[in-house]
Amino acid sequence: MSNIAAAIITIGDELLIGQTIDTNSAWIAQHLNELGIDVLRRVAVGDDRNAILTALDTELANAELVIITGGLGPTADDITKPLLNEYFGGKMVVNESVLEHLKDRFLKHNRPFLERNLKQAEVPDNCTILFNKYGTAPGMWFNKQDKVIISLPGVPFEMVSIMENEALPKLRERFFSDALLHRSIVTAGEGESFIAEAIKDIEEALPAHIKLAYLPGAGMVKLRLTGRGKDSIKLAAELDAKQKDVAKRLENIVVAMEDIPMQQILGRWFTSHNATFGLAESCTGGYISHYITQVAGASNYFNGGIVCYQDELKEKILGVKKETLEQYHAVSEQTVTEMAQGALRVLHVDYAFAITGLLGPAAPDDSAPVGTVWMAVANKDTVKTKMFHFPYDRERNKEMAASMGMLMILKFLTATLTPNPSR
Ligand code: AMP
Ligand code: MG
Repeated sequence: MSNIAAAIITIGDELLIGQTIDTNSAWIAQHLNELGIDVLRRVAVGDDRNAILTALDTELANAELVIITGGLGPTADDITKPLLNEYFGGKMVVNESVLEHLKDRFLKHNRPFLERNLKQAEVPDNCTILFNKYGTAPGMWFNKQDKVIISLPGVPFEMVSIMENEALPKLRERFFSDALLHRSIVTAGEGESFIAEAIKDIEEALPAHIKLAYLPGAGMVKLRLTGRGKDSIKLAAELDAKQKDVAKRLENIVVAMEDIPMQQILGRWFTSHNATFGLAESCTGGYISHYITQVAGASNYFNGGIVCYQDELKEKILGVKKETLEQYHAVSEQTVTEMAQGALRVLHVDYAFAITGLLGPAAPDDSAPVGTVWMAVANKDTVKTKMFHFPYDRERNKEMAASMGMLMILKFLTATLTPNPSR
């Protein structure tokens, strides 16, 4: 069976002048793809009648599914709704359920319900409403011959919520009778090509109804198996077996058997080992603490983090020796080691991670080149250190430092940390 062909039209003048970055179509494309729907084209147009009509004509000529975002607000520049009504030959009518939802929202926020707002409850009578629990503009689903057109608000979290709760389940029902199942394997420490080589024979032997995707991230590669089949129980068993084969082959680099972020993998380890954890962050300024606290239940193992940007604080709070800082400077193996040991003590934790570095763009002195970052993980018995050189801009260096830092923590915990190759 060939895949369903889709197109995405994003509407808004702000997209064309680069004021708003079009994240909507990336999100939609990714999720349609997971469903087995191919996005053939992505088009951005302004809040302009002719441009929108032309885009609709063009995309509907080639795609079975067109998803539109934007232009659904209550202001005069938002023209998508009446335009779609006209395009599909409907009539604007007040939808009772939308009206009720609107009034409810206004009441809750203590705001007066205006005439203009009544317009928001009007929808074309020939569409199905996709409930928008986070906003006022509902999503709309139109059928035209055998094609489907979905219109969604531009606000990203409203779009995501309608897609997840309403549109994606309906699309699955509409276009697929088969079951669709996924299995993930998260690996860390090796690149895509290494992995592809290592599992070449397994990948080549996959049946046509099971596909393997490589999803690389910072220091990690996620592998996703997607299977489609009539019999979901049989399919699940097949996928489980393939997932196991791949994981066994990649044994040394597998960090999770489901699609979860590194901070959650760490959280599970600390929880299951009943261990506590703390951080001493210089160059990342609390960014790793932010990641760690993204996980619900982090308070069960994360005691806290100390942001010690200035040397004085490294000394006063963490007990890094003055002589160490003077002799070796802040970005050094000696300093990071004492920071990690200090964090163990001050934060009363079983494991501590410390990080100090120069993220750029300029180095404050010549003690270390720009991009140098030292990291250390410690427990009461050992300290492991590692040095990195990140070549990017400040923002990306920080992101990389956080990712590689969390990876280093995990490797320490699972005792797979290799010695620093640069020493
Ligand atoms: P609208 O539905 O056109 O009123 O859009 C509301 C807001 O959503 C806009 O002001 C943008 O900030 C945001 N937005 C619209 N389209 C997109 C898009 N394609 N990607 C990300 N944000 C968007
Ligand atoms: Mg707009």
